[in-house]
Amino acid sequence: ARIVFSGIQPTGIPHLGNFLGALQNWTKLQQKAHREDALLFAIVGWHSLTLPQNPQALQVARREMLAALLAVGLDPKRSIIFHQDENPHHTELAWILNCITPMGKLLRMTTWKARLAVAQNARHDSEVDESELNAGLFTYPVLQAADILAYRATHVPVGEDQKQHLELARDIAGIFNRTFKPLFPLPRYVATPTRRIASLKSPGTKMSKSSPDLASRILLTDTDAQIKSKIRGAITDSIQGITYDPLHRPGASNLLTILAACTGAEGAEGVAEMAKRYEDKGHGELKADVTEAVMELMRQPRSEFERLRGEIGYLAEVARDGAVRARERSEVTMREVRKLVGLV
Ligand code: ATP
Repeated sequence: ARIVFSGIQPTGIPHLGNFLGALQNWTKLQQKAHREDALLFAIVGWHSLTLPQNPQALQVARREMLAALLAVGLDPKRSIIFHQDENPHHTELAWILNCITPMGKLLRMTTWKARLAVAQNARHDSEVDESELNAGLFTYPVLQAADILAYRATHVPVGEDQKQHLELARDIAGIFNRTFKPLFPLPRYVATPTRRIASLKSPGTKMSKSSPDLASRILLTDTDAQIKSKIRGAITDSIQGITYDPLHRPGASNLLTILAACTGAEGAEGVAEMAKRYEDKGHGELKADVTEAVMELMRQPRSEFERLRGEIGYLAEVARDGAVRARERSEVTMREVRKLVGLV
């Protein structure tokens, strides 16, 4: 039987990248799952604390992320949907794993290297410099490993941007198994059929919840008019015709990726086919079709989300039940872990 685990940070309303790169895939996995498979989807509040958060906003974002997961079709009867921060086994295991994880491996994480480079280039007093970077930012890939290993997950569906962290989780599992006793299966990366979705405003970077530019992402809550105007304003280029060339034409290529993903033309072939269809057409026509496809895709999840976000009592009930079921599973792992490391 498969044990599937994945997580998302409660850092704001999910965007099109989260939807195409993660959430839609989770729903599909749920549909395809066998009866004996277990699926766990966590809202990872502890991860979000690696960057400064407004406490009131975080509280709302946590609840709304739960509403979003239900709105995209995750079913609490079929999947364990829960708040990571309501299961202390994650931090307990993370500490133990921290103590067997070589610093050198963490120093090689590209997410860390990118943060470090920004800090090293800080010029103003208001910017975080190297000595001020918080330790959580450095060790959160270990917490991520703990999230996965606490359930002895076998399959982890995450976006391309998370692949290196999953490899680290496998490394850490291997170190634990060799040091103590084979306990953890090596979790497998489940690739999303969709390439990472780029920001509409700086297509060289990924679409992200934390970018200050609201026009750079399409949110689950955006109205049709907002979707229209954001796609109309997406940065492309002035080259005639459309080709798929992420390096030289990141904006146009991103629109092709979005269109292919929204219309179910999956993977590299889907995108290539889409590029062929638009080779003699203009950016205007491509944008109009992307707009239609995105509006169509978001319509139902958006109205479900608007309905669910106010159901505070129901959401609390789902969270409570999810946390209990998650803890029951991770407790089995933690009993073994404590015994193996000598903490009983
Ligand atoms: P933040 O900007 O707050 O770091 P995020 O938008 O990058 O957040 P996460 O919560 O870190 O999202 O990730 C949730 C899931 O969404 C992960 O599986 C991640 O791989 C996927 N994901 C995030 N951004 C994109 C994107 N632009 N394209 C495809 N998948 C994405």
